[in-house]
Amino acid sequence: MIEKLPSLAHLIRSLQQVPYLANKNVYRVANYLLTVDDKRAQQLCDTIMHARSKIVPCTVCFAWQEVSADCLFCSSKKRNQSLICAVETWQDLIAIEKTGGYTGVYHVLGGAICPLDGIGPEDLTIQRLVKRAEQEEVQEIILATNQTPEGEATAAYIAKKAEHTNVKLSCLARGVPVGSSLEYMDRLTVFKALSERRPF
Ligand SMILES: [Zn+2]
Repeated sequence: MIEKLPSLAHLIRSLQQVPYLANKNVYRVANYLLTVDDKRAQQLCDTIMHARSKIVPCTVCFAWQEVSADCLFCSSKKRNQSLICAVETWQDLIAIEKTGGYTGVYHVLGGAICPLDGIGPEDLTIQRLVKRAEQEEVQEIILATNQTPEGEATAAYIAKKAEHTNVKLSCLARGVPVGSSLEYMDRLTVFKALSERRPF
């Protein structure tokens, strides 16, 4: 039926390409976008384009930052610059920040090694993390990758690559639900996993 409405079909197809937008929500979102007034729709488009032009990844930790300002983490004197928490995604970073109990800095890896999806170590920021471990006064790296086969393989790979440094490697406490990512865990679970971390 939708194919008889080519413009709407095109909108639906575009929305279907948005990752994480559940398929069942695509029609709702399309309906919303067609229902809101022109001004609101335009604002949404402008906000997206504005954010895209003003937000860039930090060149050190790869967390998003305003292009005109310093990184919230790397440039902060209040944060412990010798403790790095390596996470797969920015969403995982947010999950850790939400606990309010972490005062170190971060390294966003950009995903996990997954040969099946064609993601190798060179597609992630692992080499930059190892460089940080070598060059900075880093004492500990928390390997907070997800407890999935990919996440664990990524942590093991980093550990091997950082072997020659003096950095202490740790990982999240056991008890973190296997197979889930930090982003979906409640604050207390993330906090506990971090504070009860163990040597890798
Ligand atoms: Zn940074």
